[in-house]
Amino acid sequence: MKALVCVKRVLDYNVTPRVKPDGSGVDLTNVKMSMNPFDEIAVEEAVRLKEKGVVTEIIAVSIGPDKAQETLRTALAMGVDRAILVQTDDTVEPLAVAKIVKGVADAEQPGLLITGKQAIDDDSNQTGQMLAALMNRPQGTFANELTVEGEHVVVKREIDGGLETVKLALPAIITTDLRLNEPRYASLPNIMKAKKKPLEIKTPADFGVDTQPRIKTLKVSEPPTRAAGVKVADVDELVAKLKALGVA
Ligand code: AMP
Repeated sequence: MKALVCVKRVLDYNVTPRVKPDGSGVDLTNVKMSMNPFDEIAVEEAVRLKEKGVVTEIIAVSIGPDKAQETLRTALAMGVDRAILVQTDDTVEPLAVAKIVKGVADAEQPGLLITGKQAIDDDSNQTGQMLAALMNRPQGTFANELTVEGEHVVVKREIDGGLETVKLALPAIITTDLRLNEPRYASLPNIMKAKKKPLEIKTPADFGVDTQPRIKTLKVSEPPTRAAGVKVADVDELVAKLKALGVA
């Protein structure tokens, strides 16, 4: 069984985003970009399934600029077998991403399609769900644990206050949550090997997908700056202040 994993190149999670002065979006000039953290978890899960002999081949797909090749090379260094970059400099919304990934899936016929639960740049949490709808296949979102059992996959899902276990017929779409696994770091020898692994370049037009935005961003603004705190001399003063505020 093949696994198809989606990886997006996003602003590194350690970087504090700067909003462009005109409020039209986040300024990405000269900032560190990395693989979306939930996609690292998706790659790790696929690699573990391959190590267990459940998955035979892992394909990673990224839709984005030429630089997204770096993100795909990271996935290859973690254990992905081959990569596909669907190259575009446009901002591609979740619906267009899902349509393109469906195009790749139609050609590759994977048993498992794994995406992150959300991209940390747009925070949409839509692509996996839209992909499941477009493919008319079951979805196990916010996966905390997954086990392939014959023609099915059992997914423990993170829901409010607990876990829900669902059983899906393969092929199925999984979206990863934070606690599914802890992604590995690529070793130096694997980084070297990854340079020689196949990376195919396509365009959205190859899949007949128009990436024109359907959504207009009206304004992006910084969160309000936190007001300065107050230093207290001792616990008694702290308790007195909390009492005065009515919270103790
Ligand atoms: P979103 O719906 O934008 O929050 O993204 C959810 C997940 O869809 C991400 O974690 C990725 O796995 C996948 N995804 C979204 N955009 C892209 C992209 N441009 N290239 C590859 N995968 C993507």
